[in-house]
Parts: sequence; structure tokens; C-alpha cells
Amino acid sequence: MEFQTVNPATGEVIRTWTTMPPDEVMRTARLAQGAFSDWKRWSVAERAPCFRRLAAVLRENREEWAIQITTEMGKPITEARAEIEKCAWMSEVYADHAADWLAEESVVADGRQHLVTFQPLGVIFSIMPWNYPFWQALRFAVPGLMAGNTSVLKHASNVTGCAFAIEQAFIRAGFPENVFRTVVPDYDTVSDLIASDIVQGVSLTGSTQVGRHIGAEAGRHLKKVVLELGGSDPFIVLEDADLDFTAKGAVAGRMLTAGQSCIASKRFIVVEAVAEAFAQRFCEMMEKLKVGDPRDETTQVGSLVNEAAVKELEQQLAESVALGARVLCGGERLPGVGCFFPPTVVDNTRPGMRLVDEEVFGPIAPLITVANETEAVALANRSDFGLGGSVWTRDLERGLKVAREIESGTVFVNSITKSDPRMPFGGVKKSGLGRELSHYGLKEFVNVKSLSVYDHG
Ligand code: NAP
Repeated sequence: MEFQTVNPATGEVIRTWTTMPPDEVMRTARLAQGAFSDWKRWSVAERAPCFRRLAAVLRENREEWAIQITTEMGKPITEARAEIEKCAWMSEVYADHAADWLAEESVVADGRQHLVTFQPLGVIFSIMPWNYPFWQALRFAVPGLMAGNTSVLKHASNVTGCAFAIEQAFIRAGFPENVFRTVVPDYDTVSDLIASDIVQGVSLTGSTQVGRHIGAEAGRHLKKVVLELGGSDPFIVLEDADLDFTAKGAVAGRMLTAGQSCIASKRFIVVEAVAEAFAQRFCEMMEKLKVGDPRDETTQVGSLVNEAAVKELEQQLAESVALGARVLCGGERLPGVGCFFPPTVVDNTRPGMRLVDEEVFGPIAPLITVANETEAVALANRSDFGLGGSVWTRDLERGLKVAREIESGTVFVNSITKSDPRMPFGGVKKSGLGRELSHYGLKEFVNVKSLSVYDHG
């Protein structure tokens, strides 16, 4: 089956691809299975230099691969470069810490010696989204491989060029052959691969809808699964927040990757006393952002991923406006070529509107006014999702108290939600299950194996 990758900023076809025949996908996965029998015997100390070289290769090729990202999915070139740099840094963090994080643990029990060891499982199948094409794929692959697994990647179709560039990165870094492979399967072959005896685990980052499907397939075949899914992160502004600082955070939180981030701030819950003043600052800053050609160094907001994404945003907005939401700035797609939508702030929003109930994957910020902190927390938790969130206040203790009450995998006080290889990352509720990054992510695809030794006789 043929498909095309399209530059969403220009509408131009980048390349026509063909999905791999099923037997080629299976053959490639078997090669990864073959590579596992050797790779699993390498110590973590032996594996670590490969990851340092991976970091170097990413930096050496940063410009070329940043352009690849920008061309395929439309984010500004400056953000694409930062994404590659973050991948390199993560690879170094694991090279530095994995030996400690995977060290055997001693336990005192009734025998002579009790150990807990962490042994790799085999081939892990990763299915990844387009919004951070390098970061999402490597966020799984680096810890997954460091733990001794091998991996097969099925990337989002629109970033197939990035998928092969990532495979190249592992090759150029000198990883043993077939430890990491990219495949381009159709959906039926994805199911067959999950069902096969080759694959021992599945890691999906994507929408909640696809998460249900892949989770069910993995469950049916009793495969370990990690699901990193959608989010609708609350951004809570308390009455004692520094409003200029907070509005700046709101812009950054909503607008990275043109709002197409799982951990973008997506519901702005503002205490009444400061609602108007916050909205005014927020709009002023949003209106100043430069939207346009993602390859222009000065562009701050690039293109949305495709036409369907623009149409979905327009509908979410129109249906919310019909129920009483009011557009304060932005609100209409930009004329001309490309999938450009301006930074948009909307007030008078509430649960029951699509802008509040659903994940909004684009640059629209709904403002919801609440009476006080208690209402803010209740509203924040009134969501199907539970990925990230942030609380903005001058009182750090109060911020931490509110953060503890939010039902999500991560909450920040006075900062936008961001991922860091030293901290675990993942969601609760319909945002997914399992964790990535840190030592928790490193141990998702391992056999936590107990060894017990007793005296003879
Ligand atoms: P998506 O539509 O769910 O796709 C994710 C991946 O699943 C792609 O590789 C896609 O391939 C594949 N896929 C889709 N349907 C499939 C099927 N029936 N069988 C097998 N594979 C299938 O998500 P997306 O549009 O790429 O990414 C946006 C979503 O990802 C948002 O909801 C966002 O919040 C979420 N996300 C979550 C995190 C997190 O860490 N929690 C991070 C980033 C993004 P094709 O492209 O070929 O369809």
C-alpha cells in the first residue's frame, strides 16, 4: 500500500512510501530477536558507550534531522533542534546512571542470600506518534535498549522519514546490527506482530482511542504494555500568582509545537479575583507570537500537522462558541497555503463544552473561571485524563498542597509541565498506564527476577 508524507506548511508532497509486506516486517522483527541473544549478555557498563556515541551522532546530525522533523510535521526549526538536543542529553543521562538504576538489590529474608535482578525481556515493539518524532521514539528506545532489550519501531506514517533517520542514528552510533529496527507495517501486520511469539512487550505513545485498541491487542496475547496517551492538563492560576510570570508560562505551556503536545496546558482554570487581569495579559502575549514558516529562525508557532487537525479544532471551537464560549483573540485559521491556526484564547468556557471535555490538540486556550482553590481542584480533577498539570502561586507550600490533590502523573508548581529523563513520566485515568524515563521507565520492560539461595542440608 502506498502513502505520502506531506509538508503541512506548504502542502507539498515530500515522498511516496510503500508499507512493507507482512513477511518483510516479520523477518525484520526476527532479526531483532536474533540480536537479543547477544545484546542481553552485554553488561550495562558495556552498553553505556553506545549511548554516549548515540548522543554524539544526534548532535552531529542535528541540523539535517531537525529539518526532517520540521518538514514532516511543521514545528519551528528552533523547537526541532531543541528536541534533538534533548534526546542526546537523555541518552547521556542513561549512560551515566543506568548501572546504578539497574543494580541488583539485596533483600534480607529467611535464606542465605536473596537478590532482586532486572533482566531484559526480548523484542519490544514500539508504536509512536508524530508530535515529537525523535523524542517520543527515543524516550522509549534508549531505556528499553539500555535494559538489554532490542526493539522494532512503527512510527506515525507522516514521519516515516524521521523513523528511518532514527534507525540510522543507532547504526551510526555503532550499536550491534538489528538491536534497533524501523518497520513500516499496515495495521493488520501491527496486530500480527503483537500476537507473534517474537514480541515480548509493546510500548505505545498516542491517542487514548488507539491506546484502547493496542492495549486490548496486547492484553489478548498477554504481552506487557506501556501506554502513554492523551491529556487535558489543568493550568491553575491562584489569586496570589504573579500574573506577568504566569501569563508567560501559560503561553509557553499552551503553544509548544503549536499546542500539539500531550502535556500542553489545555484547561486554564483561573480564580475569579484575577481572571480578567490574567486573561488580558495572556491575550496580549498570545497575539504577539509570530506564526508562519516553520523553517524561518524567528517563527514561534509553526504549522498544525494536517488539514484534519485544523478542521477538528474549528469544530471544537465552533461547538463551544454555540454554547456560550467567547473568543478573546485568534479564532480563525490563517488564509493561504498551509495548516496555520493562530494563538487563540476563549473565555466563558465550562464542562459540557468540547474545548473543556476533550483533548484540544492545537493552539486554543479555554479559560474557566472558578470562585476559589477548592473549586479549582475539583474542576481540574473533573476530567477523563490525568497526565500533567501546573499550579501557579507565590506560596510554594500552598502550591505543593494543591499539586498533591491533582489526579495526574505529574504536577508542576510555577512551571509548565515538562519531561526530564531523571523524573518518571506517565499518566493515570485515560492518559495511560506505566511510566517512562528515570529508573521507573528503565524497569518497565524487565523481568524483576528474585534469586534466593539456601544453605545445603
Ligand atoms: P495516534 O493517532 O493514536 O497514533 C499513534 C500511533 O499509533 C501512530 O504510529 C499510528 O500510526 C498508530 N496507529 C493508529 N491507529 C492504529 C491501529 N489501528 N493499529 C495500529 N497502529 C495504529 O496518535 P497521534 O495522532 O500520532 O499522536 C497524538 C496523540 O498522542 C495525542 O492524543 C497526544 O496526547 C498523544 N501523545 C501522548 C504522549 C504521552 O506521553 N502521553 C506523548 C505524545 C503524544 P499511523 O500514523 O500509521 O496511523
